[in-house]
Amino acid sequence: MISMQREQHADNRMRGFVADLLRHEDALVEPIEPEGLEVLTPAGVQRALGVGELSRLGFGTALPAGAQRVGLEGDWLDRFDRLLGTQGRWSRRVLSSDARMPGDPERVLGHELVLDNATFRLQGVTPAWTRYLVMDFRASAVSDDKRDFVTRLGVNLATGALPDAVIIGLEPFLERTEADPVVPADADLPAMWDRTRVVGLLERALPPRLDVALDPFIKGLRRRLARDQERLHRYHNDLHLETMRRAVALPEGDPKRAREEQRSDAVGREYRAKLDDLARQYATRVTVEWVQTLELVMPVHRLTVQIRRRKADRIIALDWNPLARRLEPTVCEATAGLERPRLVCDDALHLVTPRGLAPCTGCGRAFCRVCHPAACPKCGVRPVSS
Ligand SMILES: [Zn+2]
Ligand SMILES: [Zn+2]
Repeated sequence: MISMQREQHADNRMRGFVADLLRHEDALVEPIEPEGLEVLTPAGVQRALGVGELSRLGFGTALPAGAQRVGLEGDWLDRFDRLLGTQGRWSRRVLSSDARMPGDPERVLGHELVLDNATFRLQGVTPAWTRYLVMDFRASAVSDDKRDFVTRLGVNLATGALPDAVIIGLEPFLERTEADPVVPADADLPAMWDRTRVVGLLERALPPRLDVALDPFIKGLRRRLARDQERLHRYHNDLHLETMRRAVALPEGDPKRAREEQRSDAVGREYRAKLDDLARQYATRVTVEWVQTLELVMPVHRLTVQIRRRKADRIIALDWNPLARRLEPTVCEATAGLERPRLVCDDALHLVTPRGLAPCTGCGRAFCRVCHPAACPKCGVRPVSS
């Protein structure tokens, strides 16, 4: 009897913990009997716990009708760990807008899309929904000084665009506190990218953006390094000139002259050692750490564009964001860079920056770095990564 009561007490505590946790995660939670909960959970919770949107959980020996049993046995602790582990690191927001695209879409497109070796034609503009992943990273640069930076990278999962300016333009809307609108049931959201695809994008897209964020810091370091090098050089050069002057004033074969010459050599060695010390002092180590991800769902206007080069063509999509009021630029498919213009490759009509279609360092023939990421298709020389 006593052990029965203790068990019941533990079941109640478990039910209380789960109810609190799920309410905190914005689930709707209703106690049901015997010893159960009926819960309506948001997508993130469904993913972490492996439950449906509407589900019944049971905690006692007798389960409510249709309930899954939750307890310390099985993998429920792992599932709760998954839910708690993402605490504050993953959030979801929905924004809405019924703004129309202003003016002539052809002109908006012509302003954004600049192709140096191909033509394009706007085929249509349709209302659509998209999903952005907005990821924040903390970068720490450590040398004789330490500095932390936060870099934000947003990707449109429907088009693969990395619309930095649109993401910045959306920030004021994300600060609003009113409840998020509901995504219509017929909204056709792009699928979540798998880990490999996200990591592959980050490997290309993050380093150039970190370079930009770190640039003032690195410039400051370089300035101080140059100043210190200059000071070292001046000091040792003066010493060197002085010993040399003394040496040449003495007759050849004079032991004092040999001593001055040795002293001059020592000055040279000391100078090189001090330069090495400086290089070590200013060597910079950069570490990057993922901080959080925002899943942002919102309506856009999707432009369908036909790219034409010689006899080939390819259809691409570009989104116009109604809150940032901008057309998202196409991303370089090789470097993830945003600089213009774009070139179009012959074989697959990839849109790349000139760097993505640069001549081979071996044979001089230009080749597409998306079609041939590993090496030149003609001579096999591997591209030098910048
Ligand atoms: Zn080659
Ligand atoms: Zn290509």
